[in-house]
Amino acid sequence: MLSYTYFGKDDFRLTDKPVPVILSDTDAVVKITLGSICTSDLHIMHGAVPRAVPGITVGHEAVGVVTATGGKVKKVKPGDRVSINVETFCGECWFCRRGYVNNCTSPSGGWAMGCRIDGMQAEYVRVPFADTGLTRIPENVDDRQALLVGDILATGYWAAKISEIEKGDDVLVIGAGPTGICCMLAAFLKEPRRVYICDTDESRLEFTAKHYPKAITLTPEEVIPRLRSECPRKGADRVIDAAGNEKSFRTAWEAARANAVVSLIAMYETPQVLPLTEMYGKNLTFKTGGVDGADAAEILSLVSSGRLDASALITHTFPLSAAPEAYELFAARRDGVMKVALKCGE
Ligand SMILES: [Zn+2]
Ligand SMILES: [Zn+2]
Repeated sequence: MLSYTYFGKDDFRLTDKPVPVILSDTDAVVKITLGSICTSDLHIMHGAVPRAVPGITVGHEAVGVVTATGGKVKKVKPGDRVSINVETFCGECWFCRRGYVNNCTSPSGGWAMGCRIDGMQAEYVRVPFADTGLTRIPENVDDRQALLVGDILATGYWAAKISEIEKGDDVLVIGAGPTGICCMLAAFLKEPRRVYICDTDESRLEFTAKHYPKAITLTPEEVIPRLRSECPRKGADRVIDAAGNEKSFRTAWEAARANAVVSLIAMYETPQVLPLTEMYGKNLTFKTGGVDGADAAEILSLVSSGRLDASALITHTFPLSAAPEAYELFAARRDGVMKVALKCGE
């Protein structure tokens, strides 16, 4: 089968691999219909993910149809159309039982597929812990609407949850890329007063304003003066940083009101300094991390009921055989690209 494979830094290639088979009785094999490219795939390509194992198929966001299941798999069966979680998790360890599935202590727990074991930019994938890793897609939800559920919609949903957004809050999301927009969409579910979203890229602000007119788009320079004057508590009640750089980090805590929650969910490429002398008395709560992707069923039900729709983010579609061109376009952010879908099969 065709698979897009990581060989080393700046070296991804289309290769032919055998179709995966069941290795453990909790596995399933899924025939991928649509996969996507994520910024984390580019981090692997740039050599910024030391855990990534050369030789693996990349890709960790996809939908498909189950073709085989191990003897202990109960929740899905061959023929089911499913969304695949970015993380694999046992569901039984101390962390999993508390919903902290990103830190599942099983050797195949956490972000394994498309990093440490073969992932989803392929015609088929083997999914460990299929009962927790796969979620049946409701009939009225199509593949494009479900494609982002496993990774970036899960991230947005989780970010809104850990940010403890309450009704009437003013929320600031930093970064109007695909993940920031998913955070914004999930924040809207909490009935905030306003959701502000900022980016350095004007075209991303225009995209956001066009598709999600409820959002208030700001350039980074506008954030502090606008929030100081428009928010009743002189800053955002909740801030989510989905951009992950020195400037966004500073904006995140500066734009927050006193006693706010600031969630840093981006994959920062450099350490950040906490200027505690400047922050003293502001009494902020910082949350950090990578998604606990355990809410796919709730997210799919929100998509099914029409309350959550991120499909506008999928701006481009390529066949899997054109993965190198698709990556090139995505990495260069050409042609207004937000997310690229890869058609892996019928
Ligand atoms: Zn990702
Ligand atoms: Zn676990």
